[in-house]
Amino acid sequence: MLRNDQLDQWDHDHFFHPSTHLGQFARGELSNRIVTGGEGVYINDRDGNRFLDAFAGLYCVNIGYGRQEVAEAIAAQAKELAYYHSYVGHGTEASVTLAKMIIDRAPANMSRVYFGLSGSDANETNIKLVWYYNNILGRPEKKKIISRWRGYHGSGLMTGSLTGLELFHKKFDLPFSQVLHTEAPYYFRRKDLSMSEADFVAHCASELEAMIEREGADTIAAFIGEPVLGTGGIVPPPAGYWAAIQKVLKKQDILLIADEVVTGFGRLGTMMGSTHYGIEPDIITIAKGLTSAYAPLSGSIIGEDMWKVLEQGTDENGPIGHGWTYSAHPIGAAAGVANLKLIDEMNLVANAGEVGNYFNAAMAAALGDHDHVGDVRGDGMLCAVEFVEDKYDRTFFDPTRKVGPSIAAALLKRDVIARAMPQGDILGFAPPLCLTREEADTVISATADAVKEVLG
Ligand code: PMP
Repeated sequence: MLRNDQLDQWDHDHFFHPSTHLGQFARGELSNRIVTGGEGVYINDRDGNRFLDAFAGLYCVNIGYGRQEVAEAIAAQAKELAYYHSYVGHGTEASVTLAKMIIDRAPANMSRVYFGLSGSDANETNIKLVWYYNNILGRPEKKKIISRWRGYHGSGLMTGSLTGLELFHKKFDLPFSQVLHTEAPYYFRRKDLSMSEADFVAHCASELEAMIEREGADTIAAFIGEPVLGTGGIVPPPAGYWAAIQKVLKKQDILLIADEVVTGFGRLGTMMGSTHYGIEPDIITIAKGLTSAYAPLSGSIIGEDMWKVLEQGTDENGPIGHGWTYSAHPIGAAAGVANLKLIDEMNLVANAGEVGNYFNAAMAAALGDHDHVGDVRGDGMLCAVEFVEDKYDRTFFDPTRKVGPSIAAALLKRDVIARAMPQGDILGFAPPLCLTREEADTVISATADAVKEVLG
């Protein structure tokens, strides 16, 4: 084993940590953490600390840490066949089985799965397929993609553009000009406080319609959205939002991509978030919960209607010019098969609904009356607490006060991990789906103490 001081030196000198304040890390103002193990909802670090991880890594370890069934499936696959590609009709038993298992869990009329490695590359695939589709249909102008402010769809070039958070654009020369952002379905932050939820839904739909009319429906290919806004603040949509948006899209012949990287495989207490909200997408993005992050794997689930058009394209043009070396990697696929089986065997989808709803209600009861808590919201095993300077006038804290990060740090001192969301003073929770009521109580009482420490 390496000595700790050696590891710290190498970490400081050579490891480029993603989504990290590089200057603070270099100056030692941000300390590293070397994670060594995990079991259920807990992780351990090398200094002997144990934390209750109420964010499941990055909302991805749905089955919890340390599940031997998945580890063994990965080891067995690696011993038998660690790699073969999936080009030109190749595959493995694991990749074919997983495709079938995904379609069995997807909404009706979805029929094919393209496998990638990350949520970002799956969304890159989606946009390419939408463009390919419109080119096959002889509509070369129909290419723009509408996303939402505060949407999160990855941090690649196109996907970073789709992401509607300034941090992911600034100094990267993004977003690309083919991407347009429309109003987020964020009722709590509506500009006109006199609007009812129904008025606000109508407003979001009419903003979308006005954008489509302004640009011309014949220039717009697709709309992409997460069933529940995730990284943008964990915001469930107001009632009727998805029905209103889908009505506009159908009328204008615009495809719908449901980004279910967070909501897929149980997080909302239903297998898929689309079914939960009555969304009928043409494409669904999946990642995270597909393998519970035991191995990197993502997918684009394609609807049958779109598939028929894609097939026609290759008759004219030859093989589809899109593939990754690691598409349908056998180890990822084996992890996915074992993970989906375990989700069923452990009854985790039902647990996410039951314990998740308890978690949300108990969090609202514990914190809802606090003078600086503006909103407690969530659905299933997703929850957010949003802090405000003044609850009644709805004024937000000055971002330089870093209220959200301070509360997350106070919570960490109490051995609980939550996430300070990147835009606004929002504390996010997305625990593993195996969370028990007792563990939920631990998170909530630690959160109440942390809020008291920072805000009184
Ligand atoms: N879409 C959504 C909804 C996400 O939450 C994320 C990751 N947080 C992504 C896409 C990108 O996934 P990845 O980080 O695996 O590229």
